[in-house]
Amino acid sequence: MEHIYGYTLEMLKDYLLSNSEKPFRSNQLIEWLYRHKITSFKEITNMKKDFLTKLENDFVIDNLELVTKQESLDGTIKFLFRLADYNLIETVLMKHDYGYSVCVTTQVGCNMGCAFCASGMKKKLRNLEVYELVLQILMVEKLQNIKVSHVVVMGIGEPFDNYDNVLNFLKIINYPLGLEIGSRHITVSTCGLVDKIYTYADFDLQVNLAISLHAPNDKLRNEIMPINKAYPLKELIKAIKYYIEKTNRRVTIEYILLKDVNDTYLHANELADLLHGLNVYINLIPYNEVKEKPFKRSTKEAMHAFYDQLKKRSLNVTLRREQGSDIDAACGQLRSKHIE
Ligand code: SAH
Repeated sequence: MEHIYGYTLEMLKDYLLSNSEKPFRSNQLIEWLYRHKITSFKEITNMKKDFLTKLENDFVIDNLELVTKQESLDGTIKFLFRLADYNLIETVLMKHDYGYSVCVTTQVGCNMGCAFCASGMKKKLRNLEVYELVLQILMVEKLQNIKVSHVVVMGIGEPFDNYDNVLNFLKIINYPLGLEIGSRHITVSTCGLVDKIYTYADFDLQVNLAISLHAPNDKLRNEIMPINKAYPLKELIKAIKYYIEKTNRRVTIEYILLKDVNDTYLHANELADLLHGLNVYINLIPYNEVKEKPFKRSTKEAMHAFYDQLKKRSLNVTLRREQGSDIDAACGQLRSKHIE
């Protein structure tokens, strides 16, 4: 049995052709699956019975089991889902004035080992399959009875360490008759797998890219983000430049503010030097403290001073408002708690 939510348009068309069905039926199927959210092929009314039986035999229409749901005062909702192999994943729904966005998990655990991050405390057990990525959005729409408009691939895991599945996922959620998440409303965040940034730049979907930078020099970045030893800043910046030239898109730079670690006046200036002249937008993020980690959130004063200095140096910068910090929204915290 195949997982129907793992099928791209091309795969559906191939399947239809090999079953002597018209390729346009792929559009009908997408509509039934992603709009009507059928739970059985029997619900389909515009296809022949024989073909529906064939679909029933070939495909399973999966869902994810909801284990628990935490709702924050600001409307952020965190879902803990159980996969068929009993692994647990987190998906987060955020409400904004422009719509609903979902933060998607890409791996069970993570191997990137960032020093400040809760997700990395549990090693990667496996990549999520395409259908498990797609289902996170579908389940949230079903459970909340809403239409998701934005997707951020910023949950547990490193999306570029699960590149092919993430790419097929992006294609699937983008289909106009399906979930129809506009490519400009999708952002993929990476800790800096440089070779994949080049591949991603050459991919023709107009999806946004965010880079988790968090340090303005190699010495500090090596300490808090081990990936930097494989791909140092010089190579990372070169890849970002290539991406910008190739796609003509602005890149988001994420920078968590860690008290006395990366949040001083000197760091702000170093960061401004590093990013000078690049078409980037810096998103300063208040750190969500993790009890097992020594890092602290920067003070309000330090965060504002950092922001002001970057502004003074003419960079595009915002200080992210936090969401859901009262519900362990920092990546991996809900999952960690349940595994304990
Ligand atoms: N692996 C990818 C995507 C997942 S992490 C990446 O590194 O970009 C998503 C973002 O959350 C990253 O910028 C990550 O550094 C940040 N993050 C991790 N732990 C955090 C915490 N405790 N508080 C705030 N941001 C955190």
